[in-house]
Amino acid sequence: MNETDLHVIYGSDNISRMAYRLMEAMDIAAELRPDTRIALKPNFVVPKPADSGATTHPEVAEGILQYLTERGFRDITIMESSWAGADTKTSFRVCGYEALAKRYGVSLYDLKDDAFVERQAGGLTLKVCRKPLLETDYLINLPVLKAHCQTNLTCALKNLKGCLPDSEKRHFHALGLMKPIACLSRILRPALTIADAICGDLTFEEGGHPVAMDRLIGGRDPVLLDSYGAELLGFSAGDIGYLPLAEKLGVGSTDLTNATIFEHQPEEKRQSIFRPSGVARSLASHVTADAACSVCYGSLIHALQRLRDNGTRIPQGICIGQGFRGKTGDGIGIGSCTAGFATHLKGCPPNARAMADFLARQPAK
Ligand code: SF4
Repeated sequence: MNETDLHVIYGSDNISRMAYRLMEAMDIAAELRPDTRIALKPNFVVPKPADSGATTHPEVAEGILQYLTERGFRDITIMESSWAGADTKTSFRVCGYEALAKRYGVSLYDLKDDAFVERQAGGLTLKVCRKPLLETDYLINLPVLKAHCQTNLTCALKNLKGCLPDSEKRHFHALGLMKPIACLSRILRPALTIADAICGDLTFEEGGHPVAMDRLIGGRDPVLLDSYGAELLGFSAGDIGYLPLAEKLGVGSTDLTNATIFEHQPEEKRQSIFRPSGVARSLASHVTADAACSVCYGSLIHALQRLRDNGTRIPQGICIGQGFRGKTGDGIGIGSCTAGFATHLKGCPPNARAMADFLARQPAK
């Protein structure tokens, strides 16, 4: 797999199968030796199940474990440290990883129990847990793609914060988050990232407002993957302070024009119809939806949230969904299904950034 490749697989019914297929498509086994020490780093920011929008679905790790163990790789650890004040061992249980680790005979490691070492990057000296840095050959980062109230985005780079001792996590906030997150990614660059974008949170990293997005995203360059994820949530890479900084440090590229995007199971895009709930319901009051796919409507919800965050007027008459295929209309169409509308945005689905830019340009009626 090239540094500039990103693999996206759509669906939500069989997440472990999706993760397995992604590993196959990227041919990860070809990069490993039988004795490679492999670590999986999910996101258990708080002990909440994945459907809250906060944590990595255990099925993502399961698909990866199945792929690896079938091919004889045995030295596998699942490691994480929940945020300062939360208990990682409780997260292992609540998030379904205790049972998963037993089933596959792999170990769980609470990084709060780990020693740390100091490393320098970008002019900062950071304390980083020992095991992911010195006792891991191949780090598989399993973040959740979600919005974040301070950094706009949390995905590949920010998930590495779980590899810090709690004192350093607090120190990161004192340093303003952006620069230390970029520097950490220079010190601890994962070999592979598979982002869980099944139902990440609309506004907060601790969940509570999940929005169905129905896909997993795999790639080697964590900066490129985050830049792609940012656009899915209605941001540009430049809106995420740590991404240009990480690019300057040589961690990866924010240039999506250079990326090769491989889409898998595109037929699954149309299988799941979006049903807004919670905060999404109030945003959905601006929308007329008819059989809208989750991958499309989920992005629209993020785009509307971005307009709301920026104080931009949300236009009237937004239409989305397969039910508009072959129809004309004087509303504002989102996605290729509304191609018959005089005003519509192409794409199946368009990303949230394109939607937010398009909607912001629409004149008041
Ligand atoms: S454009 Fe239509 S078919 Fe394509 S993702 Fe959107 S709603 Fe689904």
